[in-house]
Amino acid sequence: MKGICVLGATGSIGVSTLDVVARHPDLYKVVALTANSNIDVLYAQCLQHRPEYAVVVDESKSAVFKDKLKNTVIAGIKVLSGKQALEQVATLDAVDSVMAAIVGAAGLLPSLAAAKAGKTVLLANKEALVMSGDIFMQAVSESGAQLLPIDSEHNAIFQCMPTNYKAGVSEKQVRRILLTASGGPFRQMPIELMAQVTPEQAVAHPNWDMGKKISVDSATMMNKGLEMIEACLLFAMEPDQIQVVIHPQSVIHSMVDYVDGTVLAQLGNPDMRIPIAHALAWPERFESGAKPLNIFAVGRMDFEEPNLERFPCLRLAYKAIAVGGIMPTVLNAANEIAVESFLGGQIRFTDIPVVIETCMDKFDATSADTLDIILAVDQQARVASQKIIAGLR
Ligand code: NAD
Ligand code: MG
Repeated sequence: MKGICVLGATGSIGVSTLDVVARHPDLYKVVALTANSNIDVLYAQCLQHRPEYAVVVDESKSAVFKDKLKNTVIAGIKVLSGKQALEQVATLDAVDSVMAAIVGAAGLLPSLAAAKAGKTVLLANKEALVMSGDIFMQAVSESGAQLLPIDSEHNAIFQCMPTNYKAGVSEKQVRRILLTASGGPFRQMPIELMAQVTPEQAVAHPNWDMGKKISVDSATMMNKGLEMIEACLLFAMEPDQIQVVIHPQSVIHSMVDYVDGTVLAQLGNPDMRIPIAHALAWPERFESGAKPLNIFAVGRMDFEEPNLERFPCLRLAYKAIAVGGIMPTVLNAANEIAVESFLGGQIRFTDIPVVIETCMDKFDATSADTLDIILAVDQQARVASQKIIAGLR
């Protein structure tokens, strides 16, 4: 019986994780669940999964949550609040596996704490890895933590790697990775109309049902840019070994091209419970609840090269990793601020890459040797992006 802590339990990945966990009560016990502020969903999850701990990061909501629990069957759950509580529950002795499913930079410290504590880290929170890069991978290798990718593409790549492959290790038999992308909702929209795209249109992904931030990232293809950086780190590869492939059907979740010419692909329905179940059961397999793939209903599969003029965010991600050092941290922070402003109606869809590139230009390529440097650069890039946005309006 393994103990699991789900960071970001109330989000799209968190909910899918608990759906899979509930199918295997003999294998997993929920030790801790965390939410930022969605106490209604957290309450229902606590009733169903009976964790020992529940974290409500937003201190103004945690008092309400504690009140809600009083005189109920789940009054015994320990309720913690504040950011530090995330690190506390991610490193509990009773926790074997940590699902890192907080969105954005807010997930870095707890995910890193889990890695340093040698937990099995199921990593969905790609922003944490992109912003901290080598520091994160070093923490994993020093502690001996097992890092299992949840992002569907990286999970697919991991599944296509040789047996016993460990994340972060360079695999000489692999020539390249073909990182698939759906191309998002605007793959075929005339480029000149993209400035008018609304947040509602941008979050409506054709194949996947996800949180708002990653949905906008998919529409700009910054998601694929972050994933390209994530792939370089997880599989110890150079950016030019990662080929982004637009595959609108989202059935192949990525491919690994070996030196002998063999290309291995992982296929399945676009359902995040598949990579989640893979990582939870690893190195075994168990039921995920996903429907079996109907290959006849898929019928055909298409592949295209991405157009960097349509998707400048992808170009910016390649630029950030080429510069290296702090630049991926800057890219990620500027993107988080730009996406938030777009969702808030302050900037246009096409302003997102403008904000990011302007912000990147303000930073010199310095090395990102310590966590303190990364956290400071993250803050500076957020402030710089806010100023750029204020200038655009
Ligand atoms: P979401 O917006 O649905 O959920 C985010 C979760 O993080 C929520 O539980 C929320 O309470 C928590 N959270 C948000 N801000 C927080 C803060 N400041 N402090 C603490 N907790 C906070 O997001 P999601 O779609 O589930 O995505 C989560 C992560 O997984 C992201 O990094 C995303 O890129 C990655 N991912 C998601 C999918 C998907 O299908 N949804 C696929 C691949 C990767
Ligand atoms: Mg993905």
